Amino acid sequence: MRASNLYAPTLRNTPAEAEIASHQLMYRAGMIRKVAGGMYTYLPLGWRVIRKIEEIIREEMDAAGGQEIGMPILQPSELWEESGRWAAYGDEMMRIKDRHGRNFCLGPTHEEMITDLVRDEVSSYKQLPLMLYQIQDKFRDERRPRFGLMRSREFIMKDLYSFDKDIEGMNVSYQKMYDAYTNIYTRMGLEFRPVEADNGAIGGGHSHEFTVLAEAGESNIAYCTKCDYAASDEKAALSPIEAADENELPLEKVATPGTNTIESLVEFLNVPIEKTIKAVAYQSDNGKLVLAFVRGDHDVNEVKVINQVEGALELTMAEDEAIKNAGGCPGFMSAIGIQPSEDVLVLVDPTVMNMHNAVAGANEVDAHYKNVNPKRDFNAEGIIVTDLRMVKEGDACPHCGAPMKMTRGIEAGQVFTLGTKYSQAMGAMFLDEQGKQQPLYMGCYGIGVGRTMAAAIEQNNDENGIIWPRAIAPFEVVVVAVNAKKDDQLAYSEEIYKECKAAGFDTLLDDRKERAGVKFKDCDLIGYPLRVVVGPKAVEENQIEIKVRKTGEMFTVSREEYLDKVK
Ligand code: ATP
Ligand code: MG
Ligand code: MG
Ligand code: MG
Repeated sequence: MRASNLYAPTLRNTPAEAEIASHQLMYRAGMIRKVAGGMYTYLPLGWRVIRKIEEIIREEMDAAGGQEIGMPILQPSELWEESGRWAAYGDEMMRIKDRHGRNFCLGPTHEEMITDLVRDEVSSYKQLPLMLYQIQDKFRDERRPRFGLMRSREFIMKDLYSFDKDIEGMNVSYQKMYDAYTNIYTRMGLEFRPVEADNGAIGGGHSHEFTVLAEAGESNIAYCTKCDYAASDEKAALSPIEAADENELPLEKVATPGTNTIESLVEFLNVPIEKTIKAVAYQSDNGKLVLAFVRGDHDVNEVKVINQVEGALELTMAEDEAIKNAGGCPGFMSAIGIQPSEDVLVLVDPTVMNMHNAVAGANEVDAHYKNVNPKRDFNAEGIIVTDLRMVKEGDACPHCGAPMKMTRGIEAGQVFTLGTKYSQAMGAMFLDEQGKQQPLYMGCYGIGVGRTMAAAIEQNNDENGIIWPRAIAPFEVVVVAVNAKKDDQLAYSEEIYKECKAAGFDTLLDDRKERAGVKFKDCDLIGYPLRVVVGPKAVEENQIEIKVRKTGEMFTVSREEYLDKVK
């Protein structure tokens, strides 16, 4: 590839909305352009990076036994009705009607579609284990798309789904994926940590987030200074706090799949209905709070809105408006027709402060807090005190007791065991060795391709631009003709370019008739790992200059030796 033909419009300035380095640099380096909020076009350089990341992922998925498939992005609502997630998913799901008025969504994830695929075809334990994956666009109508590819609405995800005959098999698949992810991030040259993550699933569930360490990240991670324990602060915070006496039970976060009505939830959790806070939620609107709740002795239709809580909080919306806007407890909210929203926290009615064993929404689909003791587990404003139980720098590691440290990172991928949640809901059964019908044990494993690209930049940049790890750089080597208007320099650099390519390096020839300073600036901005400079000294003395982007190191080598240095 020649830079004179490359469509890579670089910019001096940063668009105002780009707040973080990766967004700014991808824009300035001519790698992406915005189409609409959270939607981007990848330009040739950006797309090359995406393709390289995808290729590493693909190789590791295949090596671990994965088989690539392609599923439609558009998904019929019927599949989601079966799992109960059509109602539970909320506003992040982009819903569409076709010309006949049938409901579809743009796939935010593909558990339902893949379960549908295998339920008709996988009928015997002999067909297991099975791992299928795709690398494809997902659509999530994020409330606040921002940071460029880091949190966009249309984004590329690799999603693999595993199917096994039992829990042991599922755990083997999980470990294979865990190892594959470790290989992927290691090969990409990124500093990362697999951190224990909260997993709403059932069936002895595990989950890890693969977190790329970077200050701009939205995840807080606690890690041990002695052993290899690391957990998201959310997960670490959710270890149950000790009960004060025998009447109390420790707060517990539990998976509550498919509990779309209060009755099914109460039954699922096995809590006394009269002591159940049916739902509590508030929404912050310009700093003002609205609270809605239903007590155990009310009917679900009798939603009451408290208009004053602890002085600081006041009602700012009409009752029905408030209920419409409230959220926080997705199962309940969908039961009464409220869409859960991201900014909503769960509150407990302060008048029931002495109640034991209550239930509160955990602000997540398919999860609740059980054994809530409002006095113990919520602060004076009624906000659940997971905040107060967040691990802090210096806290003891739960595995070895050594002090822990905190750091920030970007969730670039996540691995999950799902158990039989989807197979049971959707009837994906097989016959085991004894000829008995059993549900498939599943796992799901995602990697955000664009987010990984952004994370790589967050971790590797300086004031001059991007510093690509070699494995995912748009080109490994750029050969620059200092003065491309001079035929001898151009011809010499062409030769060097061809040699580099013949040696197997992904190489770009910067043959643009621009000033050397402009080209060097672009090289630093775009972040090619190695720059090979062909100037008068090359033509006259066979001396070639090499610059290593990462270290800034520059040295001159002879024509005979330079290829060794490019390795
Ligand atoms: P987040 O917590 O950041 O919202 P998530 O936990 O909802 O992410 P998953 O459902 O685990 O995301 O999806 C798998 C991967 O897809 C994530 O680890 C992340 O890399 C990527 N991803 C998720 N949402 C987005 C997004 N809006 N933009 C870009 N990548 C995303
Ligand atoms: Mg999300
Ligand atoms: Mg997440
Ligand atoms: Mg995740």
